[in-house]
Formats: sequence, structure tokens, C-alpha cells
Amino acid sequence: SKESGRNTYRFFNEEMNDDAVAQVTLFSGLRRALDARQFVLHYQPQLEMGSGRLLGAEALIRWNHPDLGLVYPGRFIPVAEETGLIAEIGDWVLHEACAEAVEWRRVLGQDLAVAVNLSALQFKRGDIEKTVAEALEATGLDPSMLELELTESILIRDTESILAAVKRLKLMGIRLSIDDFGTGYSSLSYLKRFEVDKLKIDQSFVRDLAHNPEDAAIVRAIIQMAHSLGLKTIAEGVENKEVLDLLRLYRCDEAQGYHFARPLPADRFLAFAAERGI
Ligand code: C2E
Ligand code: CA
Ligand code: CA
Ligand code: CA
Repeated sequence: SKESGRNTYRFFNEEMNDDAVAQVTLFSGLRRALDARQFVLHYQPQLEMGSGRLLGAEALIRWNHPDLGLVYPGRFIPVAEETGLIAEIGDWVLHEACAEAVEWRRVLGQDLAVAVNLSALQFKRGDIEKTVAEALEATGLDPSMLELELTESILIRDTESILAAVKRLKLMGIRLSIDDFGTGYSSLSYLKRFEVDKLKIDQSFVRDLAHNPEDAAIVRAIIQMAHSLGLKTIAEGVENKEVLDLLRLYRCDEAQGYHFARPLPADRFLAFAAERGI
């Protein structure tokens, strides 16, 4: 009816308005958060499947908001990407993660790798190698201990400049992995052109692996393909032993998930590593 049509219209309008206001508030909040150093990184352990050895951790950003408490990246990374702030946030993440990995070596006396998520915009800006080189130099981290997680959406662009940037990162000795593998694109041709080291099997295929034959088939196919291309595989979202045992059976190389640990504040990650006898 006309009546409900009008109501619907008003409803959407108000929603959009609230949304826009929320976006602007969020943007200035993010800007301030950068200056006030309110971002923190948590670290989620990554383990070798066969030995159970701790290999390193993925750095995951959180916003330590003065009123709201810990805000998760799903709430603010999209706005940071839309507004371009992700470039500056990303620079901070790179530097902070490299510094922390140097700390692990200092405290534990052993090398652990740190994996950092990159957004497409950091690549589009065109100076990603410079940012990475600066973070490594400023912190003294060995390039082989830094892994960059790229999404398929970065590589699918396949422009000369992205190809060149990826080549230069590889020449620096940095490792590259493809995040959320299997969710993005049906074309796999970029795997041939880009020298990546590892496929990160998306958690949507992993979580329910033990009870979903289609997921199991996809995971096995990804692992087989990766291995025949000379790539390693890591499964994310490993939540229980049943899934872990299957992944081991399928010869997946590495695992990450709540079964081992949630993303941990820096000090708790160090305690986790120390407990593991490193
Ligand atoms: P992602 O890179 O796919 O990260 C994995 C997400 O899954 C993390 O969520 C992690 O906490 C969660 N997770 C890990 N293990 C399990 C598990 O066993 N079960 C379940 N249900 N979830 C698990 P988080 O920390 O909320 O991060 C969400 C996304 O935000 C990330 O997805 C990534 O795309 C983005 N993000 C996080 N940190 C950064 C960053 O520094 N830069 C950029 N550009 N993006 C980031
Ligand atoms: Ca990731
Ligand atoms: Ca992922
Ligand atoms: Ca994801």
C-alpha cells in the first residue's frame, strides 16, 4: 500500500542518514585513534601440522576505544578502506608487527615469523616496497621472518605495477601468502604469474570440514593443487581436534585457529610461545 510504501521510504532514509553520520563519526574517530595510538595488534599462533611446532603468528588489528573497549577490525577496516585511512593504518601495522617479531627473537632466542594483512589500497598507492623496506630497516627484522597476506582481489588486478611490486617484495626475501583462498575468483591463472609461497585456506571451508563432504573435497583439492605448484598450505579457523586430524590426513602444512589459541595480546603471545618450550 501507499502507506507502507511511505513508511519503508522513510525507514530507509533514516537508516541511510544514521549510517552516513556513523561513517563520518567513525572516520574522525579513526583519525584520532591513529594520533592517540589507540590501535593494538593481537597475535594468533600459527603451527606446523606435523610437529606441532610454533612457527609464528598473524598480526590482527584491534581498536582500543576509550568508551567502547576493544573494537574488532570488521567494524572499522571497511571505513578505513573507503576513506583511504587504511594506508596510514597499514603503515603503522607493518612497523608495529616487525618490531614485535624482533622482540620475540630477543626474548625467546628464536626466530618466529609474523604475518601481516595488506589491503588493496596499500598496493594501489604504489610504494608498498618502500614502506616494507622502511619497516624492516627501522626494526632490524630479517625479511625472511615477515610474511605478507594478500587477498585474491589484489592479484586479480594483474597490472604491470602490481606484478613489479610483488616481484620486488619477493627479491627482498619476504614471503607472500594468499589470504581467504577459495572465496574470491575462479581464475587461478594469477598463481602462475605471482610468486607466492603459501595458500591460506579460508575458514569457511575449514570450520565444518568434518561434517561437510563438499568442504572436505574443496580443502583436499586446494592442498593437492598447492603442493603440485610447490606452494605450502595453512588452514585457518581450526576449532577442534576432529578438523585438525582431517587436515593432517590431507597433508595440510600448517594450522591456525581457536583450537590452539585466539589472537592474543603481545604479552600473552610471548607467554604462549614460552610455554611451548621455545
Ligand atoms: P582474516 O585475515 O581472514 O583473519 C582471520 C579472522 O578470523 C580474524 O578475525 C581471527 O580472529 C578469526 N579467527 C581466527 N581463528 C578462528 C577460529 O578458529 N574460528 C573463528 N570463528 N574465527 C577465527 P579478526 O581479527 O576479527 O579480523 C577480521 C579481518 O579483519 C581479517 O580477516 C582481515 O581481513 C582484517 N584485518 C585484521 N587486521 C588487519 C590489518 O592489520 N590490516 C588489514 N588490512 N586488515 C586487517
Ligand atoms: Ca589474514
Ligand atoms: Ca583469512
Ligand atoms: Ca577473512
